Amino acid sequence: MLRIGCHLSSSKGYLNMGKTAVDIGANTFQFFTRNPRGGSAKPLDVEDMQNYCTFAEEHGIVHILAHAPYTLNACAADEGLRTFARETMEDDLMRLEYVPGSCYNFHPGSHVKQGVEIGIRYITEMLNAILKPEQATTVLLETMAGKGSEVGRTFEEIRAILDGVEIQEKMGVCLDTCHVYDGGYDIINHLEEVLEEFDRVIGLDRLKAIHLNDSKNPMGSHKDRHEKIGEGSIGLEAVTAIINHPSLKHLPFYLETPNELPGYQKEIELLKSLYQE
Ligand code: FE
Ligand code: FE
Ligand code: ZN
Repeated sequence: MLRIGCHLSSSKGYLNMGKTAVDIGANTFQFFTRNPRGGSAKPLDVEDMQNYCTFAEEHGIVHILAHAPYTLNACAADEGLRTFARETMEDDLMRLEYVPGSCYNFHPGSHVKQGVEIGIRYITEMLNAILKPEQATTVLLETMAGKGSEVGRTFEEIRAILDGVEIQEKMGVCLDTCHVYDGGYDIINHLEEVLEEFDRVIGLDRLKAIHLNDSKNPMGSHKDRHEKIGEGSIGLEAVTAIINHPSLKHLPFYLETPNELPGYQKEIELLKSLYQE
């Protein structure tokens, strides 16, 4: 069965997201833990989370993916910004303990002018300060398009971050199809080789989630502009190969395409029809 969902608004809480997912034919979903461009979080609503967990179990929703705000930059030059990143992630992970078995995805960050090595060091320091052996959430590093000084454009950079983390079993990777394509990986003509490279450098066992997006720009553009499924430079044929690839087809797929709910519903329906059981 295809595990598929899309990005949903978290403004009305968890139970509301679960019901919306069911309404549009999804069996998982992604959401921002808080205002994606600010950082303030709503008060903790444990009752809503518990109601959601019951609803999710009844409706077969699993593997939900929390996304950290974009403003979180673990490798900022400014210490205050790094502290904000650490405190935000710590608070997000504490909250997610009420929805056990979730994943938490974040953008490794932008090293600005400090260089990628210092960037990677700050990111691993933050993770080592936060991760706990007993936590029920897996933290995912998202593969990035390489816009500006983004860390995580290459599989090697992701590997270097993982290597620095002490509690490795709480870490994984989320592969964003638009980002890796914009980053220069040819997932249209050489999906097999790209996945072999991922396996060699990072290990496919670390891959826990796929952000399924088409791209507005050509391969290697380092732009990060998502497009609707089948309407961008990646195209429907390559997307079909991705969701059916033996190394990927068991993973949860999350759409982050420029859509409102009816558009997401259509894409979910289309992808289900293209999935080979
Ligand atoms: Fe993201
Ligand atoms: Fe993404
Ligand atoms: Zn993106």
